[in-house]
Amino acid sequence: MSVVVLVEHTEGNIKKKSLEAIQYAAGIAQKTGTTVSAVVLGTLADNVMQDLGQYGAQKVLHVPDARLNQLHARAYTNALITAAQKEDSKIIIALHDINGRAVAPRLSAKLKAGLVAGALSYPDLTNGFAIKKQVFSGKAFAYVNITSDVKVITLMLNTFPLSKTEGSASIQKLDVNFSDKDFGIRVKETNKITGDIQLADAQLVVSGGRGMKGPENWGLIEGLAKELGAATACSRPVADAHWRPHHEHVGQTGGTVRPDLYIAVGISGAIQHLAGVSGSKTIVVINKDPEAPFFKAANYGVVGDALEILPRLTQAVEKFRQ
Ligand code: FAD
Repeated sequence: MSVVVLVEHTEGNIKKKSLEAIQYAAGIAQKTGTTVSAVVLGTLADNVMQDLGQYGAQKVLHVPDARLNQLHARAYTNALITAAQKEDSKIIIALHDINGRAVAPRLSAKLKAGLVAGALSYPDLTNGFAIKKQVFSGKAFAYVNITSDVKVITLMLNTFPLSKTEGSASIQKLDVNFSDKDFGIRVKETNKITGDIQLADAQLVVSGGRGMKGPENWGLIEGLAKELGAATACSRPVADAHWRPHHEHVGQTGGTVRPDLYIAVGISGAIQHLAGVSGSKTIVVINKDPEAPFFKAANYGVVGDALEILPRLTQAVEKFRQ
């Protein structure tokens, strides 16, 4: 019996957030007296997969089908069910990201399994299998007890710090019976996300909202981000207006970030935005309206015009670093 985890990879490397999922699975395996089987879909080098042992995976089940290098939700679901059946697994874990959110509900429906989407804690086994998660876009927390035999969990990103140990995972090829339907989606084009720091992994984030007035002022956000070594993000209307690309949009309908520092510039702090950023350790808000709701969620606040404050803040960081 083992805990099965969906592992994501890109350009030959495991995504950092998937290492967190494996570590989380290892914690559950320890509590339940089982082991961890990581499911790798698509092409990946053996040594990279073996290294998953350093985060708690005993075994890697590998489906080396190049079509799986891109998300095909039906095929991923099929592969995970095959893996779970092979391992006699009662717990399946994915990330609470675009891939996990596409696959987990399908798994839940097909396996008649209870699902906790966006887990923030290990299960409390003292009275069932209760897991903490956000509800009402982060306004409150709930403890959800999964009572079904098979359990599906998506783990909120950046919830637990990563730590590496010694270990090497064994690799087994997993045969899955795919049908043409599993690959019903045709990927026409892939756009690579540019930038040195990936938003999901960033420890520091500078984010802009409609208060930045227009894309012509984004150099100020990028300037501060560059000085700090931070990633850039934005509110949804900013992405909708094509001031910034959609992968930078955070919130209920965008990405989730949980960095050490989130600097929100000209963002009002609507509940849908907070849903994606309220897990940040420290929040700094720059807004010209002292009544902006974001100040309630902030650790530090600056009331004033962002277009004046940002150059001064960037200069101050530059001086500090010299
Ligand atoms: P605004 O609300 O227009 O706020 C701009 C802020 O900038 C104001 O607080 C203003 O005081 C300040 N400002 C103006 N000028 C300056 C200046 N010169 N200097 C400093 N501050 C200034 N939103 C998201 O962000 N992410 C989501 O995932 C998301 N999902 C949604 C899902 C649903 C179903 C719905 C209904 C909405 C969703 N929204 C989401 C939209 C959300 O409700 C807000 O409308 C949005 O977050 C507002 O974006 P904003 O703060 O950039 O703009």
